[in-house]
Amino acid sequence: MDYKDLADLIFPNAKEISYYEEKYPERNLKEGAVVTRFAPSPTGFVHIGGLYQALVAREMAKKTDGVFFLRVEDTDQKREVENGVTGIVNSLKDFDMAPDEGMISDTEEIGNYGPYKQSLRKDIYEAYAKYLIKQGKAYPCFCTPEEGEEIRKKQEAAKIRPGYYGVWAKCRNLTVEEAAEKIKNGEKYIIRFKSPGREDRKIKHHDVIKGNVDFPENDQDIVIIKADGLPTYHFAHAVDDHLMRTTLVIRSDEWLSSVPLHLQLFHELGFKAPKYAHIAPIMKNDNGNKRKLSKRKDPEAAVSYYKEEGIPSDAVKEYLLNIANSTFENWRRANPEKSMDEFEFNINKMSVSGALFDMVKLLDIGKTVISKMTKEEVYEKSLEWAKEYDGELAEMLENKEYSLRIFGIERGNKKPRKDIAKWSDVKNSIVYMYDDKFLNGDNTYEYAKISDKEEINKILKLYIDKYFDINDDKETWFNKIKDLSEECGYAREVKEFKANPEKWPAHVGDVSTVLRVSLTGRQNTPDMYEIMEVLGKDSVVNRLNKAIR
Ligand code: GLU
Repeated sequence: MDYKDLADLIFPNAKEISYYEEKYPERNLKEGAVVTRFAPSPTGFVHIGGLYQALVAREMAKKTDGVFFLRVEDTDQKREVENGVTGIVNSLKDFDMAPDEGMISDTEEIGNYGPYKQSLRKDIYEAYAKYLIKQGKAYPCFCTPEEGEEIRKKQEAAKIRPGYYGVWAKCRNLTVEEAAEKIKNGEKYIIRFKSPGREDRKIKHHDVIKGNVDFPENDQDIVIIKADGLPTYHFAHAVDDHLMRTTLVIRSDEWLSSVPLHLQLFHELGFKAPKYAHIAPIMKNDNGNKRKLSKRKDPEAAVSYYKEEGIPSDAVKEYLLNIANSTFENWRRANPEKSMDEFEFNINKMSVSGALFDMVKLLDIGKTVISKMTKEEVYEKSLEWAKEYDGELAEMLENKEYSLRIFGIERGNKKPRKDIAKWSDVKNSIVYMYDDKFLNGDNTYEYAKISDKEEINKILKLYIDKYFDINDDKETWFNKIKDLSEECGYAREVKEFKANPEKWPAHVGDVSTVLRVSLTGRQNTPDMYEIMEVLGKDSVVNRLNKAIR
């Protein structure tokens, strides 16, 4: 009996690997094209760090005319969650990052290198495991979990490296006959890789992000096929990224220490290894301590959070590009009008250690992104968000024409309004424009410098009776507020007031504030002239009269 007989005994029906090698040929892409992927496990919600990796991968494929594909790594079926795949697919869609190839729903996929779901690739892994067994590079292991536990305890007591290697790798030395005998007796087994490595030798790895790193060689006989017949991450990674013709593996840096094992697997399988780029996790400042964004503690760790809050997906993407490449910020400053797609992403410039997540900055980007949208876009996107998350806002937006006029205030000009960072801000930023809410609500008018009730009433009455005309152009309108100020004994120009502050009790700006607070209930709003125009004559008069009362 030889290795081939043992391989046939274990996987009688597996195909020759030449079948798969031909079925999934080298891709015919132009020189330098990067084939890369996002390979999440459907074991929970999509983490913002996952989206970050996917964004980097997509940027790399895009800039080199390569391929970005989505592979679902569902070999840990105990940890799989319901709708996990749908969640992943939809998250990418929400951010306008649908892959070129791979899963496009829970059950459908596109592309010629599939299946893109690992649980559907069992026959492929078996073929490659058989191929290794045939060469004596993999073997069945009959150790029970209890035996494994015993080994671990002994190693711990002796204070030596844990794992299945060297003298501890009991089943590695079974003869083919002994192994075959056990199988025929119905003993349970898994398949292990027979590592040719030695711990006292070093390997050099050049990581696209981390640079040069030295590691000891791998000498662990890791499991490649588990008791449930599915592969481990390591084995599936080697087989899949080879057959899918990945050229650059972009993944979280928790996998960096597995590189020696992965290079060894590629080598023993006779595959050319891909390049690796290991991304540092996104960190959070927690009372002065830097820690990873945590699935349990931080709501913003979940990609769904951004959708629920209504933070525009473009703002999230732009923020992630910001933390990916520190040069992005300067580029954006120099090119405020360009689409972020024009930014030349550089993976070599990614930081080796984790960037700090900064919500303030993200919301600031949100404000800029929304300020550049047309009123129609703001309307459509707010409505879409409101329909899902805020029925009251959706109702307010039912009158499209009026909503567009509100969103048009201070928009489309050189210095557009920047008061909306996310769709969940919209209601608060427009609610006072609705008469049914404003006139019927009980407002607290918080006036500023001019706060005497009688004085305020005098100003408002005079404004309604003598100065207010909805048909005035902006200049006339403002001159009238100056006249009003003068008539009430205030400075008509701020500059004059500043030069002689003792001459008047307040100035035209303070009179404007009286009008603004009376009209809107707020001290800060976008342009008051435009607000009055949108409200219309009756509403303005009703509002001022309500303030007088
Ligand atoms: N399924 C692995 C994970 O979610 C993928 C790592 C990789 O990209 O290779 O961590």
